[in-house]
Amino acid sequence: MRLILFGPPGAGKGTQAKRLEEELGTPQLSTGDMLRAARRGGTELGKKAAAYMDAGKLVPDEVVVGLIEERIQKPECEKGFLLDGFPRTLPQAEALDAMLERRGQRIDHVISIEVPDEDIVHRLSQRRSCPSCGTVYHLEHMPPKEPGRCDKDGTELVQREDDKPETIKKRLEAFHAQTAPLKELYRERGLLKSVDGTKPPDGVHQEIREALGIAG
Ligand code: ADP
Ligand code: AMP
Repeated sequence: MRLILFGPPGAGKGTQAKRLEEELGTPQLSTGDMLRAARRGGTELGKKAAAYMDAGKLVPDEVVVGLIEERIQKPECEKGFLLDGFPRTLPQAEALDAMLERRGQRIDHVISIEVPDEDIVHRLSQRRSCPSCGTVYHLEHMPPKEPGRCDKDGTELVQREDDKPETIKKRLEAFHAQTAPLKELYRERGLLKSVDGTKPPDGVHQEIREALGIAG
């Protein structure tokens, strides 16, 4: 199954992708995670992306398209993948179409996780993540068992630089201006299913399962 998880920053794409990854056995491809890994690794690409990310702006299309192109060619993506945070612009969506067409593949479903802007700022101020394995927590709703430590590997949790209120507002602006219009594109193709992202994570997961036709 080839899926796109669509939604504003903080909608819960990563949280749901991790669950689906385990359930479906298909890898999560998060351009945000890839860019953060490149920054940690101090690569040229990471350095180039950093200024955009910290300003709450989208990284140039050719950078993220290159990252995705490299990943979907890997054998682990042969049977499917979950795109999380990609595509975010029309040129990215077109580049995705072209790379899938070359491989004789196509997107099966686009799941739009709907959360109003008013909820996003609070949600993201409570987000903490593991810099090592990427597990995401929420201080109120999904706290780690031991405060400040990842349940999976004990690494100290961090707050993302771009989860400050001013930057979150910029990211939401970018979402509405550049990313939200893609919904229409996927709706026209009959691929779009919307789920209520304000429900608790289990409820959102259940709605996604129903949308994918795998609810049992
Ligand atoms: P995204 O990948 O879309 O940016 P995340 O999955 O990182 O979003 O979720 C953003 C924050 O909201 C995290 O702190 C996460 O724990 C929390 N969260 C995710 N899903 C829900 C939900 N359904 N209800 C409340 N909080 C949630
Ligand atoms: P995310 O972890 O998905 O919230 O992404 C964090 C930041 O990485 C975004 O605010 C952008 O600066 C950058 N980014 C991630 N994915 C993309 C993308 N597909 N296109 C452009 N920039 C991206």
